[in-house]
Amino acid sequence: MLEQKLKDPSLLRSAGFIDGQWIQAPNGNTFEVLNPSTGEVIAKVADLGAQETKQAIAAAEVAYDHWKTIPAKQRSSILRRWYELVLENQEDLALIMTSEQGKVMSESRGEVIYGASYIEWFAEEAKRIYGDVLPSTSADRRSIVIKQPVGVVGAITPWNFPNAMITRKVAPALAAGCSIVLKPAAETPLSALALAELASRAGIPAGVFNVVVGKDSKSIGAELTSNPIVKKITFTGSTAVGKLLMEQSAKTIKKTSMELGGNAPVLVFEDADLDKAVTGALGAKFRNAGQTCICANRILVQDTIYDEFIKRFTNRVGEFVLGDGMADQTTMGPLITKKAVENVIALVNDAVEQGAKVCIGGKTDAQGDHFYQPTVIRDLTTSMRLAKEEVFGPVAPVFKFSTEKEAVAMANDTEFGLAAYMYTKDHSRIWRVGEALEYGMVGINETAISSEMIPFGGVKESGQGREGSKYGLEDYLEIKYLCLGDI
Ligand code: ADP
Repeated sequence: MLEQKLKDPSLLRSAGFIDGQWIQAPNGNTFEVLNPSTGEVIAKVADLGAQETKQAIAAAEVAYDHWKTIPAKQRSSILRRWYELVLENQEDLALIMTSEQGKVMSESRGEVIYGASYIEWFAEEAKRIYGDVLPSTSADRRSIVIKQPVGVVGAITPWNFPNAMITRKVAPALAAGCSIVLKPAAETPLSALALAELASRAGIPAGVFNVVVGKDSKSIGAELTSNPIVKKITFTGSTAVGKLLMEQSAKTIKKTSMELGGNAPVLVFEDADLDKAVTGALGAKFRNAGQTCICANRILVQDTIYDEFIKRFTNRVGEFVLGDGMADQTTMGPLITKKAVENVIALVNDAVEQGAKVCIGGKTDAQGDHFYQPTVIRDLTTSMRLAKEEVFGPVAPVFKFSTEKEAVAMANDTEFGLAAYMYTKDHSRIWRVGEALEYGMVGINETAISSEMIPFGGVKESGQGREGSKYGLEDYLEIKYLCLGDI
């Protein structure tokens, strides 16, 4: 039982959090949260819908009026307290995360720290929301720019990072002076609710941070995107749902920030440090069992080193220990749902039927129906689904290229543009290729590129807006121009 493992069982919440109150569904309906490793039901959570979303938005509107007037220094201290509480409860938050999401405990512990870093960062940035005094067109005028919060924010987050995807949105929103209504993924609501409990303990006032949990994401999303009180929608998830939310938000001209799908290439050139490239590609591919939007989706290797790269890479993949994320020896956990496994099977079958070869893995695993073995596939062509679609699973397709020009063309041949990586020691190439890649982020001889201090986000159909860094706050601020006449 998860509850018995926690030092503080009151972090395990199963109701929605609206206006500072824990709310059950009026009809008493709940939905089950499953442990993807064991299939065990770990919680039955209140199944809220459009009505409760409306209620949360109304509460957020009232709370906003007060929160926006609290001096930045005070908002900053409250956020700082929340950050400290998240760190103090790292182990419990990691246990909750591994239980509902499946990732290995070391990754969950890491994500709690990573998630907390956004709260710390934006607690500091709250004090650095500056305006401007502009040169004037005439002697009797002054032109001033001030920054103000956008207002009530609606946030929708996915299951792959049940903590960090929330703090990345909630922390900058609150730092800017906005209030927020969050709908976390139904697969992983418990991490979100634990964060809300800690936010409340930190002194974030009732109604400033609300969490609506529920299975009916369509209805909750429809309310968030149509309600005129909500001024901004921030979303992390699939491109298809992102497009839908943008469409729905257009009717009331809401601002939107979209962090959508990726199809990240890793370019490995013949002058690269091969072992570093293997290690980097391995981390970028198999972190969270391949379920991240910046996961290496296509590994592109120069023909002169193709066989050697595959040999070393496959050997390293053979060292993974697949299993329950709670077990100490496990280095890779299950996939989130059976549907996710079925998708991976279909992608691999499509490639094999067209002539690709499996170097290792390529199968489901006897440990349970959420497990798929870490897999390497070679001899791929660009007509295969693996060249175009986001895998979101532990399958590494290794493609071959012969020239730099070809590599860049292959890398850019996708509607996505989130993260790309390259391994090379040639400094001229670093600039040439770095500038030519149509991506929001490029890792050069490095694949662990994310932190609270950098602008995370994509171009093309991978989205708009940035999370983290000084730019991450701008997404929650409006620019207002004040014209002072008759001076
Ligand atoms: P993933 O493939 O990562 O599950 P989704 O885009 O389906 O990506 O889900 C991301 C988030 O969007 C989840 O919280 C999910 O519940 C929510 N979601 C899915 N469909 C809709 C929708 N039609 N309207 C609003 N939210 C949605």
